[in-house]
Amino acid sequence: MNTHTNPLLQIKQLSKTWASGSSRSVLALDNFSFDVHDGEFLVIIGPSGCGKSTLLYTIAGLESPTTGTITLEGSAVTHPSPDRSLIFQEPSLFPWLSALDNVEWGLKIRGMPKTERRDCAMHFLKKVGLADSAKKYPHELSGGMKQRVAIARALCLQPKVLLMDEPFAALDVQTRYQMQNFLLEIWESTHITVVFVTHHIDEAIHLADRVLVLTARPGRILEEVPVALPRPREIASSAFDDYRTSFFAHLRSEVSKAFAEQELAEVIDATIK
Ligand code: ADP
Ligand code: MG
Repeated sequence: MNTHTNPLLQIKQLSKTWASGSSRSVLALDNFSFDVHDGEFLVIIGPSGCGKSTLLYTIAGLESPTTGTITLEGSAVTHPSPDRSLIFQEPSLFPWLSALDNVEWGLKIRGMPKTERRDCAMHFLKKVGLADSAKKYPHELSGGMKQRVAIARALCLQPKVLLMDEPFAALDVQTRYQMQNFLLEIWESTHITVVFVTHHIDEAIHLADRVLVLTARPGRILEEVPVALPRPREIASSAFDDYRTSFFAHLRSEVSKAFAEQELAEVIDATIK
């Protein structure tokens, strides 16, 4: 990670209100500022409903900020771009295309000649360990394999930052851990910058250079914690445990607030109905 040059991504005083001006208006993010450095693995953790997805959609350019600015290498983010690739919990692969054709798809849209795009797609399928499954269709792949195809497809377009919204949340515990290791290998070999959202404490500690802990909605930064553990990280170690205990303590009160708010919302909804 290079912290000496200008940050790759700058988020300044970002606020986002959904359905602004209506009776259903929701302040999802409030006065949010942080930088992401080139090559950094930043993890954002916070209780359910605190605005994590809203933040990633806004950085991806799928939503515009209500106030504040987002810049990538100094240029304002105003619309989606392959520079900022967003990976969701459910990989959105085309079911009628093979793994290889799915990975190639974005390059085809860009007009890259067939041989060149095939070579590029195979290169990234190899990188994610799926060269042997290139001809398989999504229904023939496991959840973890589908997610790897989605990552290969994103990497093919050479994004400057990979935005990941709880990408492994639907996977079983073992696969999830393997996918974390696999993502770290990709990150180390490509030097890509990652902004990774989770509500899973161990996942955050395993992956991050730095963790931003968010408050319950409206999401604000509660604290910023560099994870100073050598890699590969040993999850069954006392140093890992210390981080786990500290994150748990900080998140507990925010999760309680989020729960209280959801219960209140349900009571209000029931009262209106
Ligand atoms: P998280 O990803 O942390 O669980 P979200 O960013 O999905 O949280 O949601 C934050 C808040 O914004 C929630 O109260 C949610 O109901 C609200 N919200 C999210 N998306 C929309 C939308 N498209 N329209 C209205 N409200 C939304
Ligand atoms: Mg979310």
